[in-house]
Amino acid sequence: MGIEREILDTDILIVGAGPAGLACAYKIAELIEKESLNMPEILVMDKGSYVGAHALSGAVMDPKGIAELIPDYKEKQAPLESEVTSEAMYFLKEKSAVKFPFMPSSLNNHGNYIISLNKFTGWMAEQVESKGIDIYAGLAGYELIVENGNVIGVQTVDMGLDKEGKPKSNFEPGSIIKAKITILCEGVHGSLTRQAFEKIPSLREKSLPQVYLTGVKEVWEVPEGRIKAGQVIHTIGFPQPSYEYGVGWIYGMSDKMVSAGYAVGLNSPDPTNDSHMKFQRYKTHPLLKKILSGGKMLHYGAKTIPDNGYYSMPRLYADGLLLGGDSAGFLNPQKLKGVHLAIKSGIMAAETVIDGLKANDFSGTVLGNYQKRFDNSWAKEELYKSRNFHAGFKGGLFAGLFHAAMQIATGGRGLFDRRINKNDYEYMLTLENYRQRFGHDPVKKTVKFDNEYTFDKLTDVYKSGTMHDEEQPSHLQITDFDICNNRCTEEYGNPCQHFCPAHVYEMVDDPDRPGKQKLQLTPSNCVHCKTCDIVDPYQVIRWVTPQGGEGPNYTNM
Ligand code: SF4
Repeated sequence: MGIEREILDTDILIVGAGPAGLACAYKIAELIEKESLNMPEILVMDKGSYVGAHALSGAVMDPKGIAELIPDYKEKQAPLESEVTSEAMYFLKEKSAVKFPFMPSSLNNHGNYIISLNKFTGWMAEQVESKGIDIYAGLAGYELIVENGNVIGVQTVDMGLDKEGKPKSNFEPGSIIKAKITILCEGVHGSLTRQAFEKIPSLREKSLPQVYLTGVKEVWEVPEGRIKAGQVIHTIGFPQPSYEYGVGWIYGMSDKMVSAGYAVGLNSPDPTNDSHMKFQRYKTHPLLKKILSGGKMLHYGAKTIPDNGYYSMPRLYADGLLLGGDSAGFLNPQKLKGVHLAIKSGIMAAETVIDGLKANDFSGTVLGNYQKRFDNSWAKEELYKSRNFHAGFKGGLFAGLFHAAMQIATGGRGLFDRRINKNDYEYMLTLENYRQRFGHDPVKKTVKFDNEYTFDKLTDVYKSGTMHDEEQPSHLQITDFDICNNRCTEEYGNPCQHFCPAHVYEMVDDPDRPGKQKLQLTPSNCVHCKTCDIVDPYQVIRWVTPQGGEGPNYTNM
């Protein structure tokens, strides 16, 4: 629209101050010092209001990554809530729990730490800043700028637009940040990463579609004696139907602080699949009640998890571009852990940046070294061993457990290698197809919220600290409302009302069409989990970045 934009030049632009982006910045500075090179200009940007505001994870961390990056991380007071002291796995039925007689080796957490990822990334940011690198929190990237296949930087979000997109008196146009190399570590299903895949299709030409879970989590303060610091409990079974994928966890962050969460596969046939409701039902199980009842829920959060592992990873580089962390699928689906892999990706990206600086060449010819480093790393070895894990659950829970055992016995291959999957939204059945397959309409099992132990979505969103200026264009862009208000109502029953864990989508009576409903959005509730962008069956919802500094404000998550 002919807006004059400020152009800023930098050498290295890192988008996302999570474990991968911060590890990358830290390692670049360290290698520059070690090799006495000229310090390049490095700009690290993050859309959260502070570093860690959007960081959310289970989170049990394998320390392998941080130990490689900062070997004296303990002396440097890394915030580790507790070392894992005991672990157990349960199969849950609605009212009972059966403890596994042993822990599957893949879930062994001996030597791992329970952390709060948002505290941990805050600490990582301090280490980066101690190296003289500035981190710009509250700065959100809107568009990835690609010229002739070469990534040349990012345009940041315009600030001060009204709901219709017209400039208000405080309008500030987004800047263009030009960089020799742009490193996208913006988390799961990042909007710039998605643009990279669209603008440079070769990045994904050999990868299978990614498969996601939506993880919903609450942090509770509980009476003493309910849990021990470092106690780790994993569960399968209730409340997930056996044909869907889902896992739960309860971690003792301290003797009085509990992280409890549930992650739900988005490749479900059920158009009423609702991760928030499933988590609330999960808490009604006696195993959870014994720990949480009488306690107080302090924090809530939700995010998606890239869960198909190795075969869904993109090529990790293009001209002027590297991809790291969750943006590139660095997550071990078998262990449901990604922090250590994200840090390793940041380290390898940094080493490749140094190659580029030395050769003064940031084309794919040099940046391809990142892929080579990955191919020869422990990260690749780990991801390769778990390459078929999620795909093994295609036939349901019990088939999945069988395949998981076969995969352990065969170094990850199992009975089938590289099972072709579809995008998550392609697994959702229309109401008619659902009836044909199951013999009835979808029956969404619910709990009654008392807002003391079980919470509705709005109460939970409040506990996520989410804030957005309501006077701005919606960052949930619906390309065709007619599909939502008519075709989707008829064919799927508007699944957006169910799959969003933050009550952003609601069907309300349409005053212009008596007896009919229309979609109403409340984007200010959005916790930036990206579920809607992933699983909307018509793909008419596009999540774009709102103004910088908005979204959840996670603490202790
Ligand atoms: Fe997640 Fe989309 Fe809901 Fe935001 S609107 S919370 S991204 S599902």
